[in-house]
Amino acid sequence: MALHAQCVLIDGHNDVLMLRHSRGRPYDLMKVDRRYHSDGPRLIAGGMTASLFMVHGHELAPSLEMIARVYREVARHPDALMLITETGQIRRAKRSGRLGIVMSWESLMALESSMEVLHIAHRLGVRASTVTHGEGGGEHQLQGTPSVFRLVTARDRARHRRTAKGLTPFGKQVIREMNRLGMLIDVAHANDRTFDDILALSAKPVVSTHGGVFACCPHARCSTDEQIKALAAGGGLLSIAFYPGFIAPPGRKATADGIVDQILYVAGLVGIDHVGIGTDFDGISGRPVIRSAERLPVLTEAMLRRGLRPAEIRKVWGGNYLRVLKETIG
Ligand SMILES: [Zn+2]
Repeated sequence: MALHAQCVLIDGHNDVLMLRHSRGRPYDLMKVDRRYHSDGPRLIAGGMTASLFMVHGHELAPSLEMIARVYREVARHPDALMLITETGQIRRAKRSGRLGIVMSWESLMALESSMEVLHIAHRLGVRASTVTHGEGGGEHQLQGTPSVFRLVTARDRARHRRTAKGLTPFGKQVIREMNRLGMLIDVAHANDRTFDDILALSAKPVVSTHGGVFACCPHARCSTDEQIKALAAGGGLLSIAFYPGFIAPPGRKATADGIVDQILYVAGLVGIDHVGIGTDFDGISGRPVIRSAERLPVLTEAMLRRGLRPAEIRKVWGGNYLRVLKETIG
């Protein structure tokens, strides 16, 4: 607990605002609500410093509504919540015991193929986005074919990578513009061809905000060794999600140790500087591997038990994200 309390914790992906928005009822983020994996008080109790909270990205009006909602929640709870638009503010959140909200989109269909909308989103404080939520080929979609979301063999995956269509011409412009504006580019949910295109184009570090290791669990959303090496070579990182389907294949139990296995695998492949955590709280139907936000210290304990040193644990929890965010959003 002492070590956990020292760590800056940065979560690559939290869906609780999106889930609550989609249910259409008014809510207070600072009220404990155990129907969800997370809420403000339990995230703070679990030691969370800042999360990339998903605020839509699929359609423009709901995206703007969610951004407005974040502003309202932060204004209502200035003692507990803080909007993060620069990396330095995360340290301030840590010092003051507040929860930092980094607004992120999980699709860029909301742009409706207009770069001006991306500029406005950035001005409103959106600092990260996945390029796709798996959609592809349709109007205003940034990749040419949809992504696969299921268990796959390495062979199927290689075949899919050959036949998939990557970034659209507008998608390529968006990558350059996100680099220029200072927005973190997230390759989670991208198809394997789009992944290659993004890594080839981006001049800044790229992350997969909520994923897993394909060598440990053969799900198409998990990153292959080659992809992990590419993320690391660009200075970015892979954050491991608490989604059981990325941690253990069917028939095997997904545990905190399974998460640590994946952290150790990435560390062995490319070094401890290129792995992080992306809980995906409230984006997972059913129970996450770490059940809810107040239980986050369980993972620190598991990392210690498996021989990770305190300095390494600090990097996994937030040190690596601090570096990547500094280089991308500033
Ligand atoms: Zn997702």
